[in-house]
Amino acid sequence: MAQHRANSAPTRDPKHDPSHACIEPAPGRARVLLPLPLSGAYTYAVPEGPALAPGDYVVAPLGARELVGVVWDAPAEHETPVPTAKLKPVAGKLDLPPLPAEHRRFVDWVAGYTLAPPGAVLRMTLSSPGALEPPKPVKRVIRPPLPLPEDLNLTPARRRVLSAAEDGFAWTQAELAREAGVGVGVVKGLIGAGVLEEVLLEPRLPPGAPDPHLPGPTLSKAQATAAAALAEKVADGYSATLLDGVTGSGKTEVYFEAVAAALKAGRQVLVLLPEIALSAQWLERFTRRFGARPVEWHSDLKSSERRLAWRAVAEGRARVVVGARSALFLPYPALGLIVVDEEHEGAFKQEDGVIYHARDMAVVRSTLGKFPVVLASATPSLESLVNVEAGKYAELHLPDRHGGALLPAVELIDLRRTPPKRDPDIGVTWLAPPLVTALEETLTDGAQALLYLNRRGYAPLTLCRACGHRFECPDCSAWLVEHRFLGALVCHHCGYSLRPPEQCPACGAEDALTPIGPGVERLAEEVAQRFPAARVALMSSDSIQGPAAAAELVRQVQAHEVDIVIGTQLAAKGHHFPLLTLVGVVDGDLGLKGGDLRAGERTYQLLHQVAGRAGRADRPGRVLIQTYQPDHPVMQALASGERDRFLAVEAELRREAGWPPFGRLAALIVSAPDAGQADAACRQLARAAPRREGLQVLGPAEAPMAVLRGRHRRRFLVKARRELPLQQLLRSWLGSVKLPSAVKPYVDIDPYSFW
Ligand code: ADP
Ligand code: ZN
Repeated sequence: MAQHRANSAPTRDPKHDPSHACIEPAPGRARVLLPLPLSGAYTYAVPEGPALAPGDYVVAPLGARELVGVVWDAPAEHETPVPTAKLKPVAGKLDLPPLPAEHRRFVDWVAGYTLAPPGAVLRMTLSSPGALEPPKPVKRVIRPPLPLPEDLNLTPARRRVLSAAEDGFAWTQAELAREAGVGVGVVKGLIGAGVLEEVLLEPRLPPGAPDPHLPGPTLSKAQATAAAALAEKVADGYSATLLDGVTGSGKTEVYFEAVAAALKAGRQVLVLLPEIALSAQWLERFTRRFGARPVEWHSDLKSSERRLAWRAVAEGRARVVVGARSALFLPYPALGLIVVDEEHEGAFKQEDGVIYHARDMAVVRSTLGKFPVVLASATPSLESLVNVEAGKYAELHLPDRHGGALLPAVELIDLRRTPPKRDPDIGVTWLAPPLVTALEETLTDGAQALLYLNRRGYAPLTLCRACGHRFECPDCSAWLVEHRFLGALVCHHCGYSLRPPEQCPACGAEDALTPIGPGVERLAEEVAQRFPAARVALMSSDSIQGPAAAAELVRQVQAHEVDIVIGTQLAAKGHHFPLLTLVGVVDGDLGLKGGDLRAGERTYQLLHQVAGRAGRADRPGRVLIQTYQPDHPVMQALASGERDRFLAVEAELRREAGWPPFGRLAALIVSAPDAGQADAACRQLARAAPRREGLQVLGPAEAPMAVLRGRHRRRFLVKARRELPLQQLLRSWLGSVKLPSAVKPYVDIDPYSFW
């Protein structure tokens, strides 16, 4: 069979009958899974030539199109004896290492668990179509080791080029010219004279391999014990370990030892981070430890970078990959360790397309690949702690901060007693007097402060003072958030945006629009008025776009070019700022609102994490949390540091009520173009709802975001005892109801967000 060429279209009838889906592959046939939401693999004829094996990447026709799919090996459930002669033939095989069997099992497993079509899961693996073809060679200039021609006119500019090219590197013409400080013409002249040579090279990643034999830092006793335990597991097949240690205890240094062990064993390593865009410090540490950068995988990569990274992974040359959740679906041939850093993070949950939790799927991938997975966190999820208790996960503890740094003291500011004062110059304010005083002291000490408010923009709501009109998104059940930098009112759910009008659109009153509540931009205004001399930086997804901007801001804070950081959730994560001694949480209660079953757990995790930014080096830190509910168990746990007691109470509440992780939960969301259709579909579904001992179907209810991007949403919650076959019950429920095509039901297994 020939290598695939773009126009090798098949000559047969382009119509394809999906009932061919379940035929056992016979000689001359292959089952091919295509990266589309189809019910399963299709059977194709295999023309004369080298045989195809499961895992091979092939080009196959579907209708009038040709797609790259993978030869699959799932057993047939029933056979339809269609003669091979009637099947459409595979159009070609790609020159790539086959997708390993354990990865194919992983795709099937994720599809079964999430109720997504297997092709939709495979699509996450084939996420860089350009990488499937061999990379196009690029032109580079080298200096071949030949003596210079006698008659060469060696101008100073030419000399500089030759000396720059001496190192044996392959340059582009422009790079070499820039390096030598000359025009490109000089380089071209030398090529013309035969002194430099142009060659065609295949672009490749990575430039260098991480070296596991380089020395790491000297570990403390507790760190060394944990590191040795992890490194030992690398040779031992599947295991899951929770690495539980306070922020700054050296979890990263410890799991780096496991990374080194896996590399020494010749295996690939995947490190999943929740916010890869903010991982500049992590990359720097990795590079220092292993002498080379890991291969990165996240949505900010350019498509050329994605192509190179994907191919480097598939060919096994990428030894360490650091990435966001989607990196889990790359086609590793020799994966031998996964680390999920900040395992409790909500960012690991993918909320659209295939809905999955990357931490949980990482554990599945490790089981299938028979290698260890390490979950690291200072505030582990209840899910993981319960797995430790049940003996499913091992646990390693790092109780102390490295180098004797102390955990910061956490104090609560009771906003009922000491509310922010109305200021004659500033007007409404958000910082209570004790926090203002602490900020003054911090600045006087020449230290830095972080003010944390998890709200983007200027104000979460805009109101007309004359008639009470509220600005709402026309397509979503959400208020428009004022963004003063952008000069717009913006919907955070769909991106709808509106210039703030001069007059109220409801009553026509002029200059009557008032911002209600604070966002980080508004807080920055108050800080600028109170501390005019302080250098202030905003850290939110609006002010920081992309990893380069994030890295630059981190650098500025570390270089003490900033006195006060005002940040959203983005500022909470993983940064190490030695001079930062004060953290002020402006609205501690924010995350407790709403009916989310994990609201308490999440608020604890997030505020604990933010608090961990304070006092990471030799200066003790201080954390002030503004709250209207100082008696709330979350606030009490934060102030006393009694995490485990809080979690035990939280776990007990969930156990009694049968909520996750003790019971199982799935959401069935129904979305329709109008409310009538949504309600009708829900009535149909409600009539067909499964009835079983130990299973409860709650709803339908309007989803908290009842209208999203113009679609009307309703939600059922299915709560089931652990031992019930939840997926099977959902599948037969959905299969028993015929909904109009405009109505889209989708299932979210283990839901984390309830809008
Ligand atoms: P965590 O991941 O638990 O928050 P880190 O691994 O980021 O902790 O460590 C916090 C800081 O302490 C980092 O700057 C790290 O380089 C440093 N550190 C931790 N352990 C050691 C060690 N054994 N020797 C030197 N520096 C260390
Ligand atoms: Zn909207």
